[in-house]
Amino acid sequence: MSLSASLGIPREVEEELTRDPIARKILITIFKMGTVKPRIGLETGIRYPPFEDLPNWRSVIEKLIKLKLVDRSVADRLVHCPRCGSIHVSSRLLCPWCKSFNIEPTYIIQHTLCGYIDTESKFRDPNTGQLICPKCKRPLRKEGLDYVVIGKVFECLNCKRKSNKPMIVFYCRNCSHQFDYLNTVYEPVYEYSLTPLGQKVVTSGALHKQDIIEALEELGLQVEAPGKEKGRSGIDHTFDILARTPQGRVLAIDFAEEKDPSLAITSRVPKALDTGVDRYIIILPSNAFEASMLVQMKNVIVLDLTEPYLVERIKAIAKELLKKETKEVEVTAEAPPELSEEQFFGEIGAFEEKEPALSENEMLLLAEEEEEKKEGEEGERKKEKKEGEKKELLADEFFGG
Ligand SMILES: [Zn+2]
Ligand SMILES: [Zn+2]
Ligand SMILES: [Zn+2]
Repeated sequence: MSLSASLGIPREVEEELTRDPIARKILITIFKMGTVKPRIGLETGIRYPPFEDLPNWRSVIEKLIKLKLVDRSVADRLVHCPRCGSIHVSSRLLCPWCKSFNIEPTYIIQHTLCGYIDTESKFRDPNTGQLICPKCKRPLRKEGLDYVVIGKVFECLNCKRKSNKPMIVFYCRNCSHQFDYLNTVYEPVYEYSLTPLGQKVVTSGALHKQDIIEALEELGLQVEAPGKEKGRSGIDHTFDILARTPQGRVLAIDFAEEKDPSLAITSRVPKALDTGVDRYIIILPSNAFEASMLVQMKNVIVLDLTEPYLVERIKAIAKELLKKETKEVEVTAEAPPELSEEQFFGEIGAFEEKEPALSENEMLLLAEEEEEKKEGEEGERKKEKKEGEKKELLADEFFGG
């Protein structure tokens, strides 16, 4: 019976997502970004900024992995301090004999003229910085000509011994603990992406459907999901969500899963033409703005699935339909109750010209006006001021309410 089931989305997944708004936000965030990668800083640790505002996101993401909606893969591995867990860890090279970290890399040089071998520091004159053979006292001229570099060693400045294999250990900058590689905690760092099922859950609209239905019902619309509307051709057209106002105006919503936005639009517009729904919202997985350029009809609105205030946008469109109704009630109270079809369509046509479909900014403004009404203030001056400010309206403000 449920639409999600017919899309191959398991029932338990659907129920879980209906219950958990954080899970829905995580899925939409990953969908938007493709892959959520860790941001690694020695002092800041391992962070996932897109998730940081979502409470308990780590446990929720574990749940989404179990539900096979999210995939995690190893993006890196990091050395953690076994004592405090910090990743602010440096490598140290120690003298294998006295364990001092105060060792210095140096070259081993052979003076080919006399055969003497020693470290570079023994050849270097402390006053002039020139290379001079400690045995025969002749200056060294050119590598390959009168001397050769035969290797690299570490010279301990503490015990003066040399080694070509220093000990490698780690030092925690957070708690000053020094540890070797056998005692290190070497943990994977993950990045997150959606599984094909996760992709499907997002693009099918399953994450938004419940919120949208509830919002429309709250406004007093009668909602079916999916809903059928008979076209003038006699064909029954199915929409993902179909909402009717008390006076029978129709708001239809479809979630388009096509990757190609123009295909998504052109295959759906005939439904709107045939049924004559008052508002038809097509929700695309991405590129809604570009796709909206393809639409010539004022009553067809293209929205982006990932926009943060999608439900508010749809509410604003529904409110605008209801607003027309209150106006019409006032008029028809004195007008004859029955209009001929011609009059009816003529009137709607005239109406449409006066009030075209709302642009994005207008819709934001509409929602703001509603808020102003609640405050009981409708002063024109305030409205003008608000209009000047509306471009600065943050998505967060909108969503947060
Ligand atoms: Zn530590
Ligand atoms: Zn020499
Ligand atoms: Zn030493």
